[in-house]
Amino acid sequence: MEEKNILIFCAHSDDQILGPGGTVAKYANEGYNIHTYIFSHGEGSHPHLKKSVIVKMRVDEAFKADKIIKGKGVVFFGVTDGKFEESIKKKKIVSTVKKIIQEKKPVKIFTHSLDDAHPDHRETNKAVIEAVDKIKSKIPVYVFDLWNPLSFQFRNHPRLAIDIKSTFEKKIMAIKCFESQSIAIIMLLWTVYLRAFIWGIRHKVGLAEVFYKVR
Ligand SMILES: [Zn+2]
Repeated sequence: MEEKNILIFCAHSDDQILGPGGTVAKYANEGYNIHTYIFSHGEGSHPHLKKSVIVKMRVDEAFKADKIIKGKGVVFFGVTDGKFEESIKKKKIVSTVKKIIQEKKPVKIFTHSLDDAHPDHRETNKAVIEAVDKIKSKIPVYVFDLWNPLSFQFRNHPRLAIDIKSTFEKKIMAIKCFESQSIAIIMLLWTVYLRAFIWGIRHKVGLAEVFYKVR
């Protein structure tokens, strides 16, 4: 039987849930294998803690959240937090991404959008797009934006709206796994609700996540 893989490439270990969490949980229920690749351990998030402590904490949280959405595991690339551009080059992340895509042959790829306000998110997008373009892959790439509640830059790109009514609760449960990020998460949580709600109205479903197809 052919494997149906879906890949998520994101910068930090909560982006995969805050962005496409409801969508991938739904795909997992439909039998797709969800593989998550996280560029950085997010070691810059708690400057007063030892790096090894933060890394362990963030890895544990990512696996806990992955279980909730029934994902097939999480891989960390170890890109240096706050120094993405330099570290992506040094660690040859583009060729790592290329190899993963060639091996997994996914039916869809999800990653950050290029107009995200966070520079690490934009660097992640660039590395993934570079890898996709280098192998001339025809695999559709969908982007999500975590910071602009309603983003317009990609209005000319085809839009993918997924009804996440059935998995929204799971998404919220998974978000709550990221205890180390509690302050940031509380700040973001209202946008998760607001966007799901607004997009849901726009697309005439209860709650939705929206993506733009950039490749
Ligand atoms: Zn992030």
